[in-house]
Parts: sequence; structure tokens; C-alpha cells
Amino acid sequence: MYIVMLGAPGSGKGTIGKILSHDLGLTHVSTGDIFREQSNKKTELGKKIREYMESGALVPDEVVIETVKARLLEEDVKDGAILDGFPRTVAQAEALRDFLKENRPEAKRVAIELDVPDAEIVRRVVNRLICTNKACGEIYNKETRPPKQEGICDVCGSELKRRKDDNEETVTKRLDIYHQNSKNLIDFYRKNNALYSIYPQELEVAVKKIEEFLEEYKRK
Ligand code: ADP
Ligand code: ZN
Repeated sequence: MYIVMLGAPGSGKGTIGKILSHDLGLTHVSTGDIFREQSNKKTELGKKIREYMESGALVPDEVVIETVKARLLEEDVKDGAILDGFPRTVAQAEALRDFLKENRPEAKRVAIELDVPDAEIVRRVVNRLICTNKACGEIYNKETRPPKQEGICDVCGSELKRRKDDNEETVTKRLDIYHQNSKNLIDFYRKNNALYSIYPQELEVAVKKIEEFLEEYKRK
């Protein structure tokens, strides 16, 4: 099963995506993480990607689609994956549908929408801290989920940092772009009867409800 996580920046796609990945034994694929890695490279493409990301703009569809297709041909995602941050536009959703139809005709595809009010999003994002150890990548929040020791990851002891694009100005832009695309994207999955929406207030409760939904969906 391919599970698509939809939601504004800071809605919890990464946090919940990782828990689901662990519980369901599916690889977690985050396009944000892939692009952050590429943006550190000193290539032309790396430089362009960095500019898009730091300004809060989307990476162009062609680049995103090629990147994800290449990733989805790898062995660890041949039976399914948690897709975090992809698709973000209807063009990307169509490309995913066509790719799966061709390469994984048996696979089910479902979307989970994390629906969080905008006012809360900004607060979540500007307080977000991320573990700098790539293999870990644990996500914290200064207000709602602080680490035990300031600036240090509970899980692996590495340093915690704020993402460059997690400032008020950029988040407002990312949120606008999200709203420009989200209605059509959500309609796309709703039409396919493959959408579950939830306002994830308490993390554990949200995960439990999502997993119950997925259990039901698998049996359909
Ligand atoms: P968030 O969901 O918190 O905005 P992500 O880590 O998912 O953060 O993405 C960070 C940035 O990476 C985005 O603002 C965008 O520039 C780029 N990006 C990630 N996924 C996509 C995508 N599917 N399409 C276009 N751009 C993307
Ligand atoms: Zn860590």
C-alpha cells in the first residue's frame, strides 16, 4: 500500500509519517528530505533546489516527478511506502497514479489529510526543531514537544536545529501555496474514495485513528 500524507507544512506529516512507517513496516519517503540533501550538493540543480526551498516556493513538477519515480523504483519501496510531502499538486498526483498503474498494478493507494488550522500551523513551524543526524531526523517542538535537554535529541544525542525555511515569512508563503493546491489535490483523492481526513490534536489518538482506518481500508 502506498500512503500519501497530505497537509500543510507543520501539520505533522513527518512526525505521523514516521510513526506509521515504523508501525506498518513501510519505508518513509520524504521529498523534503530528498531535496534538502540535493540542495547541499554544489551542482547547478542543487543550487536551484536550494533557492526554491529557502524562499518557500515549490520545486517544479518535472523535477519532483522524475526524482520520485527514480526513488520508487528502488527495492525497499516495491510493496509500498509512506509518501510524505508528495504529491503536492494534481499533476504530481496524476503522475503517481500513472506510475503505480504501470509499475505496481496490484498496489493500493490512499491519502491521509492532516487538517490543522492555519493559526496553529505558524506556531508549530516556528517552534519546530529537527535532529541534525540524518539517520535519526526526530522532530521536536519548543512548546508542545520539547526535548528533555535543550538543543539535544532525546533519541540519539545529536544537536537540534531549526530548518532554514521555518521562519514566519517563509511559512506564510508555504501555507499560501499549500492552500492554492490542496483543494484540488484533496478532491482528487476524495473522488477515488481513498481519503481520510483528521485534525491531529493529540498525536497518539490521531495515529490510532489513522491506523484503524488503514486496517479497514486494506480489507476493502
Ligand atoms: P513542509 O511540508 O514542512 O513544507 P517539506 O520538508 O515537506 O516541508 O518540504 C520542504 C520544501 O521542499 C518545500 O517547501 C518545497 O520547496 C520542497 N518540496 C518538497 N516536496 C515537494 C513537492 N512534492 N513538490 C514541490 N516541492 C517540494
Ligand atoms: Zn536524533
